[in-house]
Amino acid sequence: MAPARRTSRGLLAAQVGFRVVRIARFTTGDVPSYGVVGQADEEEIVASLVGDPLYSGVELTGERHSLGEVRLLAPVIPRSKVVGIGRNYAAHAAELGNAVPSEPLVFFKPNTSVIGPHDPIVYPAASSDVSFEGELAVVIGRICRDVPAEKVADVIFGYTVCNDVTARDLQAKDNQWARAKGYDSFCPLGPWIETVLNPADLMVTTTVNGEVRQRESTALMIHDVAACIAYVSSFTTLLPGDVIATGTPAGVGSLTPGDEVSVTVDGIGTLTNQVVARD
Ligand code: MG
Repeated sequence: MAPARRTSRGLLAAQVGFRVVRIARFTTGDVPSYGVVGQADEEEIVASLVGDPLYSGVELTGERHSLGEVRLLAPVIPRSKVVGIGRNYAAHAAELGNAVPSEPLVFFKPNTSVIGPHDPIVYPAASSDVSFEGELAVVIGRICRDVPAEKVADVIFGYTVCNDVTARDLQAKDNQWARAKGYDSFCPLGPWIETVLNPADLMVTTTVNGEVRQRESTALMIHDVAACIAYVSSFTTLLPGDVIATGTPAGVGSLTPGDEVSVTVDGIGTLTNQVVARD
């Protein structure tokens, strides 16, 4: 698929009728596909892509759907890992009684915790305090290690929205956060990947049942996107499709089954999920 990599965004834009910046993963009931999302002829559409654009470049199949007729899926299934950054906004560290770490505080979420827009967040039987954490997430585009902060643009595929769902009581109880951060369904991602975006000053807003609970700019991150990628890649190899969740602003709080939680990052979109009790 070498020629696909050489397909220019300008040529693609001419083919679909809009600027090609949003990559989604979707299904119409059959196998999942990737697509580019945009407005064409006054309609929101998704134009299907050949293969996975992370690996094979961006090439259109010629098929297109109305955005309302497809089900969006998590825009990426990380091949290896989701890396979380903890306590990366001072007001959030303070609200939970924690100091701000001098270096990024890092944890992993397993790729099996990833779900997509409108997939249910399943409330675990072992927890009685499950919290939302709205976050900007970075999707890595190239295998990399020891990336200098000034070179991170070379390894970023794009940005999406993450809800770093956390069992707060288990986080306090366990010395490691594997369980508190790692339950199946604890990593909603979506609605798509925005591939052209400046992450320096984007408003992150979380609502629960329509009520605003978090609203703060990424400009208040202690360690910015470049610093986070430089730090994480200093100890682990990042693979295409790996995701870095960059930390949550102040305002985190408990969810209960039946709640609808939405995270919006300006410039990307809104990720909505419902909370359900375990059967
Ligand atoms: Mg978090």
